[in-house]
Amino acid sequence: MKKLYLVVPCYNEEEVLMETSKRLQNKVFELIEKSKITKDSKILFVDDGSKDRTWELISFLHKKDTIFSGLKLSHNKGHQNALLAGLTKAAVYADIAISLDADLQDDINAIDAMIEKYYEGNDIVYGVRSSREKDTFFKKFTAETYYKMLKHLGADIIYNHADYRLMSNRALKGLLQFKEVNLFLRGIVPMIGYQNDIVTYERQERFAGKSKYPLKKMISFAFEGVTSMSIKPVRLIFNFGMGICGIGIIALLYFLIQYLSGRTVSGWTSLIMSIWVLGGMQLIAIGVIGEYIGKVYLETKERPKFIIESTLLNEEMK
Ligand code: UDP
Ligand code: MG
Repeated sequence: MKKLYLVVPCYNEEEVLMETSKRLQNKVFELIEKSKITKDSKILFVDDGSKDRTWELISFLHKKDTIFSGLKLSHNKGHQNALLAGLTKAAVYADIAISLDADLQDDINAIDAMIEKYYEGNDIVYGVRSSREKDTFFKKFTAETYYKMLKHLGADIIYNHADYRLMSNRALKGLLQFKEVNLFLRGIVPMIGYQNDIVTYERQERFAGKSKYPLKKMISFAFEGVTSMSIKPVRLIFNFGMGICGIGIIALLYFLIQYLSGRTVSGWTSLIMSIWVLGGMQLIAIGVIGEYIGKVYLETKERPKFIIESTLLNEEMK
């Protein structure tokens, strides 16, 4: 039997915490009863620097029952960092961790299936939304376009999966080898590798309180996703520069013909040529510089170059 940690990031969640804790506790009891997880499994709330009574409630829950544990961040560091804080603890104490939102939009009945898949040999089980029927057209369209764009830019992400997922202890340890500051977990986790699978679930409405992800935060998160996973946008500048330069050179012939046939104002040819050809060259130069900066950027992330799954070595471990 394995020890489970449910990792729940909370930012100003006083309205949902009592209900959430009750439902999660029931779920954990149910799993213990079915002998799927050990009795010392825990529900770990990570208070992401909340300004309301969130931490008070977590402390209260912990006092009542030690199945509830808590971590309090000194400052609001954002959902992804709060999650990582919780998962870092889980990597030390648990065999399995499942991350889910405090508002229970992630259907907790999918947990059973996730654990089933874990016992079937999967190290990572992704919770995937079965449909986006409840979403507005705008949300559906932007989300789809975004996933497609990220794929195109080379990030290996799971369609319609957010941060509801199960990770085994060794997958967690793999995650901790990623040292980057700009965290985009759903982009990094697939890079860990190992056998994985998905479980589909119906995304619920938030049952109380307001979303902590207003449009502004969402846009900056989306941008973070692109820039932390890919340096292709820089290459775009380079290619654009090449294009402009190419057009410039073709246009140059045309301008020269115009000039030779005397159909231009004096000075126009040299001016227009500088604008096009020089403009293109400048973009190429920026692209080249960007390419190097991009390389430096990727190096500073110090991502693991590999994660070993198993070894066949007859040497004594030193
Ligand atoms: N959250 C967090 N820190 C933040 C913002 C959000 O820990 O700065 C948590 C929040 O408490 C919730 C989860 O991240 O458990 C998802 O947030 P929310 O439900 O508000 O986002 P939405 O579902 O509307 O996208
Ligand atoms: Mg939510």
